[in-house]
Amino acid sequence: MLSPPDPKRTDDLPRERFFSALLAARPLLVLTGAGVSAGSGIPTYRDRQGVWRRSDPITHQEFTGDPRQRRRYWGRSTLGWPAVSGAYPSRAHRALRELERAGVVSHIVTQNVDRLHQRAGSEKAVDLHGRLDRVRCLSCGTMSSRAALQARLLEVNPWLQRPVSALRPDGDADLRDEEIDRVTVPACDACDGMLMPDVVFFGGSIPRDRIRFCEEALRDSGGLLVLGSSLQVYSGYRFCRWAKRNQQPLFIINPGTTRADELADSRLSDEADPALEALLARLDIPTIHTNTTPETA
Ligand code: NAD
Repeated sequence: MLSPPDPKRTDDLPRERFFSALLAARPLLVLTGAGVSAGSGIPTYRDRQGVWRRSDPITHQEFTGDPRQRRRYWGRSTLGWPAVSGAYPSRAHRALRELERAGVVSHIVTQNVDRLHQRAGSEKAVDLHGRLDRVRCLSCGTMSSRAALQARLLEVNPWLQRPVSALRPDGDADLRDEEIDRVTVPACDACDGMLMPDVVFFGGSIPRDRIRFCEEALRDSGGLLVLGSSLQVYSGYRFCRWAKRNQQPLFIINPGTTRADELADSRLSDEADPALEALLARLDIPTIHTNTTPETA
């Protein structure tokens, strides 16, 4: 159900007027959020009203400071990983790739960690919060693939090979409390250090050079389009403030409310898949319906 209109927020425009304004500002930097992967079967954290709908995700401090939290994380992640690694790009991911090729999109900055923009073939996608398909050793810095770690996790925890009833947003799934202490967590092959997914957890920090790159990419673009994000996380919301500081137009496509609705120049209440396909149609770019094979890590 769509939320009731907020009297303070920028009024939604009809699609045609929204697209005209958007295309006049091209090339656009597109900031994407979990809503873009909803069509790939990966759930969002917040609903359309911006309300949190699941248990809190792990923080950086909990992961690094508490062995039980690490067992909980890796146990749940072992269950959820097959669904994330096997997900296919949504119609929105594929449309964004076409818009990138057509020069309408300059860069895609994604808050998602699922690599679905790259699996769809986008070449200018930046993983703002990192990527789930890689693992980093916190001691020696060695990077390795999540797929290889999955094999090690299942070798030492064969009981974790079972179907999951409900996938959670960051690729984890429900694990019963009493099962947490049974989870064995492998260490780095090279130095026996602590392994962590190459993602920025809540409470962690994004590398400075990544932020600088994104800020410059926005400056070099004609405007900002935010797609499928509640913008409740500051690292995403900050892009909207940068756009306003740079006097660049801000466009938002979201079927629900976002934190930056009052800053937006134009808003469209729509889901990502039909909205972007309508934009492709407006540009006479054919919609390509073939799925792209999942990336192998
Ligand atoms: P969010 O869960 O806070 O908000 C999701 C937004 O998507 C909501 O505003 C909702 O209205 C919108 N939405 C729902 N269905 C949609 C659709 N079909 N089309 C367009 N929009 C739709 O997500 P967020 O703003 O991305 O921030 C949450 C954080 O969670 C990010 O930092 C990200 O790292 C992480 N996350 C990642 C994934 C992933 O990798 N797929 C999934 C969930 C959360």
